[in-house]
Amino acid sequence: MQTPLRIELPAQFAHETVNVYAFTEPELTLIDSGEANQASWEALQQGLVKAGLSVNEVRKIIITHAHVDHIGMAAQIAEASGAEIWVSDLVYDWAAFTAEKWQSRVDFLQVVFQKAQVPEVWYKPVIAYLQEIPAKWLPIPEKYLRRFSLQDTLSFAGNQWQVMHAPGHSASQTCFFQPDTQQFFSADMLLPITPVAVIEQEDQVPQKRVPGLVQMVESFEKITQMPIAVSYPGHGEPFADHQGLIAKQVARIHQRKNQCLEVVRAGVEQAFDIARKLYADASPTMLFSGFAMTLGYLDLLAAEGLVVQHDTPQGWRFEAVAQKQV
Ligand SMILES: [Zn+2]
Repeated sequence: MQTPLRIELPAQFAHETVNVYAFTEPELTLIDSGEANQASWEALQQGLVKAGLSVNEVRKIIITHAHVDHIGMAAQIAEASGAEIWVSDLVYDWAAFTAEKWQSRVDFLQVVFQKAQVPEVWYKPVIAYLQEIPAKWLPIPEKYLRRFSLQDTLSFAGNQWQVMHAPGHSASQTCFFQPDTQQFFSADMLLPITPVAVIEQEDQVPQKRVPGLVQMVESFEKITQMPIAVSYPGHGEPFADHQGLIAKQVARIHQRKNQCLEVVRAGVEQAFDIARKLYADASPTMLFSGFAMTLGYLDLLAAEGLVVQHDTPQGWRFEAVAQKQV
């Protein structure tokens, strides 16, 4: 069994670094790429040189999901090396038509912010920040792109890896599992800390928000049953006890969901106001993640029939469903 080399690159989000994994045999293969900026490029080069390798030798880059910190620098690595970049069907358009897809995401978020009645003073800086993302996310020329389906197996590191679609953090999230060695590339589906259910739109119905946290809980249920020996996360260090980690994170999600229900029961109706109660001490960027999670808790509560969402001309209004007396 080959153990991948883990190279940590700087990244902008809460985790502060992102992992690129490298396998050297039978050809230099990277899992994910980091985001495009000078510091990432230097860190990747240094990480490879330390192992006696060079960026020019990369033959294959396999992308786990369509987020800037995982795919942003892939095009630059391919330009230097001629490497193939493998992306799933769900990532393809993000890889090839990055700017258009991103703009559609930002437009969608603005609608979500309006419906949640997020105050302008708060969402304007968030939108400005999001507009900067394409500078760190290079579109990939088609000549480098190779595409895999969600049912495929991928060949790398001298083995066949099962592709597993694991939506939750991102609708485009795929993990890779090797049944003999029981190695699992969990990407951002399993992380040392609970991943954020990022606000994303449906591929087929772009006006519709994906219920990310509901999907995340479902993905957790599937993964916990898998015979995994070691998980390689997109951020932080590899770990062994995936079941313990999942149990803890699922328990925490339900605990926060119940706190969210208490806030709705107390009569707080707007999603953003609910988020402010749940994440009272958060900085603006953390509150953006907290707001995404709050929509997720509301999705879970709606799925359980405990909360209903009313669409009014002013936006969404959430209401607790009266409980029958037993
Ligand atoms: Zn990530």
